[in-house]
Amino acid sequence: MDKRRFLKTAGGILITASAGGLSASAYGLICRPQDSYFDKVRNFDADHTEDVRLTADQMVILNSVVARLRRVRGIVGHGNFALLGFDEMLSVSRNYSKVRRFPKKELNFLEDIFYRDAARYGFYGEKVLSGLTDRVPNRNSAKVRRTGQYLFKGSPLVIYKEMRSKLGKDVVLTSGVRGMAKQMYLFLAKAQRTKGNLSRASRSLAPPGYSFHAAGDFDVGKRGWGARNFSSDFAKTDVFKKLVDMGYARLRYPQDNLLGVRYEPWHIKIV
Ligand SMILES: [Zn+2]
Repeated sequence: MDKRRFLKTAGGILITASAGGLSASAYGLICRPQDSYFDKVRNFDADHTEDVRLTADQMVILNSVVARLRRVRGIVGHGNFALLGFDEMLSVSRNYSKVRRFPKKELNFLEDIFYRDAARYGFYGEKVLSGLTDRVPNRNSAKVRRTGQYLFKGSPLVIYKEMRSKLGKDVVLTSGVRGMAKQMYLFLAKAQRTKGNLSRASRSLAPPGYSFHAAGDFDVGKRGWGARNFSSDFAKTDVFKKLVDMGYARLRYPQDNLLGVRYEPWHIKIV
């Protein structure tokens, strides 16, 4: 986290510990960030006055980029799209007339989005992939049957299998490994739905490069729950309660975290 920037935003409060993973209430009287900060993470999907927004010109580029990324996904399929790096994404765009190559202004836009400091939006998580062309290694991932998702071999796969053996089939993997193309698509599609409000998008989705789905974290849900698995309602399910009891609910984004992100009870912190 960019502490200096956070302090400025949070109102000049002394924070001596790393903010990652700690709930703000843990700081008690020592740390009382401005109410507006918590207003934003609690009402994450609303527009707030200080939010950073794209210009009308940038919105035009955003719309064409999102459509092109969707066409790339259509060519490679959902599973492969999850692992796709930036260079492979460009190569697909060049080789398939249905996608067509990314024009210079779209590439400049993607580069600009990637290399911006996300703290400008109010997102204070750390960067996981430092270069635009960094990719998640294919050989270290395993496809998880019947989910269309991948998990890194090692701790993520072992922990997920353990969860399944202890909780049964009621716990399902809802999102595993996400490489550069997928995180870009998810973030920019959200930015499209927020009409270019990048701050609002970043309260729900890590900007490209900042997602721990590129490092081993994954999302789980309750079987048959669909989109509700990505809402705070998931915390009320028997599945979540069992995950807590068994010690699996190590959350990357707990309630009232100081990372500028909504409460995500479904996102399991692995690394
Ligand atoms: Zn997640």
